Amino acid sequence: MDGNFILDRIEKMVDPHIAIWDDAFRILITGILSTRTKDEVTDRASLRLFCKFPAIEMLAMASPEIVRDLIKPVGFYKHKSHDIIDTSRMIMMKHNGRVPDTMEELLELPGVGRKVANIVLSEGVGKEGLAVDTHVQRISFRLGLSPSEKPEETEKILKKKFPRKRWNEVNSYFVEFGKQICKPITPSCNRCDLRQVCKYWREHENSS
Ligand code: SF4
Repeated sequence: MDGNFILDRIEKMVDPHIAIWDDAFRILITGILSTRTKDEVTDRASLRLFCKFPAIEMLAMASPEIVRDLIKPVGFYKHKSHDIIDTSRMIMMKHNGRVPDTMEELLELPGVGRKVANIVLSEGVGKEGLAVDTHVQRISFRLGLSPSEKPEETEKILKKKFPRKRWNEVNSYFVEFGKQICKPITPSCNRCDLRQVCKYWREHENSS
């Protein structure tokens, strides 16, 4: 299945998801907060956090109790309060206050997995990244782009199916497409221009 075709069709159906922050540090910390948490909850928590601690050096010196209260109720907020302080400290001490721009260095930061690292690469530091979150995973599986239910494997598969210069578009278009049309419980297949190539549609066509 041609990746360009998929992205061109989705582009006609929805606008890309726009992150609320545009600097690498805030994108990184918001990414850590976002794991297992709804977007609206993550966005509100990051707003509260960055109002109190607008700079990385301030967050590196913060107390875990204050950070914890600011980010609650994101998922695993107690654990994440330590992760984001430790990550800020590591960036200050090891990277002179600059968010690293390689996958290997990003993965060394506490609380950072491949999804967050790919988001930072693609949205924060101007490199290519293909972040597989729940929307990208679900849509890829339904379309038949990836037979795997493991995000790491799906990332590898998608990177072969989409041209490198379009990797950064995949997450932002798939997230919005997943919120508006290919929704988690009941996808709106009747409104979707990808039915002709969709494995899920072929398998469920007669039951819809
Ligand atoms: S046809 Fe349905 S399941 Fe397939 S991509 Fe479109 S909305 Fe999702």
